[in-house]
Amino acid sequence: MVELTARSMRQKVDRGDDMISETKRSMENETEIIPISLRSVKVFLIKGEKNILVDTGNPGLADDILERVGEEGLKPDDIDSIIITHAHPDHAGSLPQLKEKTGARVVVHEMEVQNIAEGDFLDAPPTCLKGRILSLFLSLFGSGEGEGVEPDILVGDRFDLSELGLEGSVIHTPGHTPGSISIVLENGEAVVGDLVMGGILSSSKPGRPIFAYDLEEAGRSLKKLLSSDVKIRRFYAAHGGPFSRDEIEELIS
Ligand SMILES: [Zn+2]
Ligand SMILES: [Zn+2]
Repeated sequence: MVELTARSMRQKVDRGDDMISETKRSMENETEIIPISLRSVKVFLIKGEKNILVDTGNPGLADDILERVGEEGLKPDDIDSIIITHAHPDHAGSLPQLKEKTGARVVVHEMEVQNIAEGDFLDAPPTCLKGRILSLFLSLFGSGEGEGVEPDILVGDRFDLSELGLEGSVIHTPGHTPGSISIVLENGEAVVGDLVMGGILSSSKPGRPIFAYDLEEAGRSLKKLLSSDVKIRRFYAAHGGPFSRDEIEELIS
């Protein structure tokens, strides 16, 4: 009797262990986007089967970013890839140090490969008064020059993230800059760089980029994202956000 009870208890425990490892497994398969706020800009850690860092912030922020990555239980060399949404200094500024410390592969759009390789950041043409004021203010600080990094993977119109170990794609979403890209995950979350902006000069709603090479093209890129195979329900922007699908639909309507 005692033995029977012990055995049935053991079976229960075994089943319990199975359930725990089942839950653990499904959690391990879950991909999560973790925003890392760095004063005026955000970068994103995509944590999943493989770990990807999207953007690198302004120059001099590598250690701050790695500290936050560490708080997520990851070591620098757990970062497999770094995707740069576009060649602006607040997105690619700390790339050389982060590439060196993580050994990650660097992914950029083919139209901005030269800017990244030469550390020659793109201009930011203002599209409105806010943009003009901010660009005057920014011109007081620093230049558009940095250290270059040779990218490892070039993206064209679309790139399948399974090559980097995650479910989703990188999509060319030009407008803010010619080679801007967005990351769309299978779970309906997307990181869109500066394709939409909020939170600058205290606007919490999503707005059109206050800097852009081609504002109409940026609008078309947003529509492209809204009609992508994956129904995107959350848009993570580098300035402000995240924004809901409804907010983005309202913006372009
Ligand atoms: Zn930008
Ligand atoms: Zn930016």
